[in-house]
Amino acid sequence: MSTNSSSDRIQLVQGDITRQEVAAIVNAANSSLLGGGGVDGAIHRAGGPVILEECRAIRARQGGCKTGEAVITTGGRLPAAHVIHTVGPVWHGGHRGEPELLANCYRNSLRLAAEHRLDSIAFPGISTGIYGYPKKEATVIALQTVRAFLAQSPLPKTVVFVVFDDESRRYYEQELRS
Ligand code: ADP
Repeated sequence: MSTNSSSDRIQLVQGDITRQEVAAIVNAANSSLLGGGGVDGAIHRAGGPVILEECRAIRARQGGCKTGEAVITTGGRLPAAHVIHTVGPVWHGGHRGEPELLANCYRNSLRLAAEHRLDSIAFPGISTGIYGYPKKEATVIALQTVRAFLAQSPLPKTVVFVVFDDESRRYYEQELRS
């Protein structure tokens, strides 16, 4: 049934991820979980200090978050009830396992969302800012990984890709057509 195909469950939005009304937004965090610049800074600013408190508790328990892995906290004051923090790979040219690590970010975030019975999730372009992952290549991995996950899982029902800039939007539009 076409209404159940993965493409019907994927949306593209250009704007600020902190404004998305979904069950969880994904943060492109760093392994310390103690906050940073880019989307990480925007999420902590908008969501308030309770997110950092929970991140500190996770850090005390398990010592941060490894590249490719994901953890979940409250969304604090965000419209989204939860934040899933995942740590993308730093781009070193593509021969240090970056593609697989980036795919792990998407897979592990989706798995956490499904485990928590969350029906919608919004992703930023993980690693495509300060971490320097080429945007086009990152888009291909994001779409491939999300489509593969949705094909074998009823949750989350909806995945929103949130892009900031026009260049990223064009890459997502291109990949969504293919
Ligand atoms: P990383 O360190 O993983 O590269 P960044 O936060 O530097 O993470 O950037 C990731 C992507 O998120 C970039 O493409 C950047 O343009 C985008 N971005 C930054 N702020 C926001 C925001 N508020 N909403 C959506 N996307 C954002």
